[in-house]
Amino acid sequence: MKALFISDLHLTPDCPAVARAFCHYLCHRAIEADALYILGDFFEYWVGDDAMDDFQFDIARRLRQYTDTGRPLYLMPGNRDFGIGKAFLRQTGITWLQDPTLVEINQRKILLLHGDSLCTRDRQYQRYRRFIRNPLVLSLLRLTPLSYRRQLGASIRRNSRAAKVGKSLAIMDVTPSAVVQVMEKYRVDTLIHGHTHRPDIHDVVLKQGSGKRYVLGDWTDKGWEIELNGSDITLQQFPISD
Ligand code: MN
Repeated sequence: MKALFISDLHLTPDCPAVARAFCHYLCHRAIEADALYILGDFFEYWVGDDAMDDFQFDIARRLRQYTDTGRPLYLMPGNRDFGIGKAFLRQTGITWLQDPTLVEINQRKILLLHGDSLCTRDRQYQRYRRFIRNPLVLSLLRLTPLSYRRQLGASIRRNSRAAKVGKSLAIMDVTPSAVVQVMEKYRVDTLIHGHTHRPDIHDVVLKQGSGKRYVLGDWTDKGWEIELNGSDITLQQFPISD
């Protein structure tokens, strides 16, 4: 079976070319695969299932057209769209994946993460992540008025941009020991994640032998995907035209 992995599309009406590229990808590329995995930050922001705009409704319709073909479509929350709820999943036919999730495809065990949990040197962010991703906090947030959530979302994005300015590249990348720890915990030699926007393939030395960490890239003027076909895994890029 052939599975595809993508992440960090950061879909927003401000970047129509990326949205168009994704729709094209669904109809021409993902349709030829047996499953599609989206590993977080699919949307640039998600205020709530009750606050979807025309853009998000349109994307939802495209996703539904894809799942209506019978192919499974999996979505893992990122740090931008973790607020996606059950109504959106019902509407699109998407299956929600916890972060992390261990899958077995073609007899290969693969650990899937968004990737932000691996950036442990950014303590400030990890504290915030533990708070905002707490199921209780999340369900309380869903009860707050839309205007409040819109404000909160905007201030989170502002703070995230401002925080990045003062942080070194090393702090914003994954911590090597955190990678080893999670791969040993789940006893896998293959890890796929996004979030850092640094597409690459890294060797990892593990107790159980050698492993590989595949990092997806974000979609801007290029798109990135990982293809699993048989036992082969490849990282590929393709152009996104305006
Ligand atoms: Mn992210």
